[in-house]
Amino acid sequence: MSPNTPAVTGLHHVTAIAGDPQRNLDFYTGALGMRLVKRSVNQDAPDTYHLFYADAEGHAGSDLTFFPWPELPPGKRGIGLTNQVALAVPPGTLDWWSERLQSAGIRTGDTTTWFGEPVLPFDDPDGLGLALVETGDARDFTPWADSPVDPARQIRGLHAVRLAERDLAPTARSLTAGLGFSAAREEHGWHRFTVQGGGSGRAVDIQVRPDAPRGEWGVGSVHHIAWRVPDGDAQRAVRASVSAAGGRPTEVIDRFWFQSVYFREPGGALFEVATDGPGFTVDESPDTLGEKLILPPWLEPRRAEIERGLPRLTSPVRT
Ligand code: ZN
Repeated sequence: MSPNTPAVTGLHHVTAIAGDPQRNLDFYTGALGMRLVKRSVNQDAPDTYHLFYADAEGHAGSDLTFFPWPELPPGKRGIGLTNQVALAVPPGTLDWWSERLQSAGIRTGDTTTWFGEPVLPFDDPDGLGLALVETGDARDFTPWADSPVDPARQIRGLHAVRLAERDLAPTARSLTAGLGFSAAREEHGWHRFTVQGGGSGRAVDIQVRPDAPRGEWGVGSVHHIAWRVPDGDAQRAVRASVSAAGGRPTEVIDRFWFQSVYFREPGGALFEVATDGPGFTVDESPDTLGEKLILPPWLEPRRAEIERGLPRLTSPVRT
């Protein structure tokens, strides 16, 4: 990338497709100890929940969100999809996490390393590929006092994402010329791209698999990944460079808690560029985030109808 390329500042959120919403809520707030910071609906399909899990304050970059669509078939990992999402945990905690996940009925993979960092891979109850990665990198993080996980071990936020592509070059160009990433390192066939000098929350890994089938959206697959920009000016600049690099970004869409632009990278994965603000406390007190159904103002007139169509969720199971 040229020094003048506008750059995103890291991962903003990852949105995935879940099955049963109660099971999703129980796993992410119970076993993983994340906080439900927003209980809302899919703004394009308001008969579906949109559940947001993050640190206590819902910092940009800490946020894993789900559309529960139990009627969809299982997703298929493959080309043009984010197949694995890595979450940051403090150094020295992976053995503890491994025991915790296993006691929650999750089969974990063998502990390994990615670019020198210890990694515990596993799938969530819907088959979404996850990994916990130990990192001592500084993060914007506020522990959740009511979490069943001790603050010293809580998930710090999104660490990295891993995609498979048929060709490296077009996606690499979209990342570097469009979003301001740099090619960083290569290990075991994984090409790591970093932004803002790298570190936790600022990496994407691409694996080239020329013969693999295309990935397909479904239960347990990533729907899109969102990259951070500090404000609307930065978003306009990144949007322009995505366009100049051959992408076809949408207009700016008001998601109420942030402003969003979407585009498909050349391999097919859906990317978003989202502003850090105004954030999740724009319409709820920080003390009660996630406790009741929040609708954006333009859906509020339909609240009764929307609530009738949503399955009832009970408080997270504490494990
Ligand atoms: Zn999004």
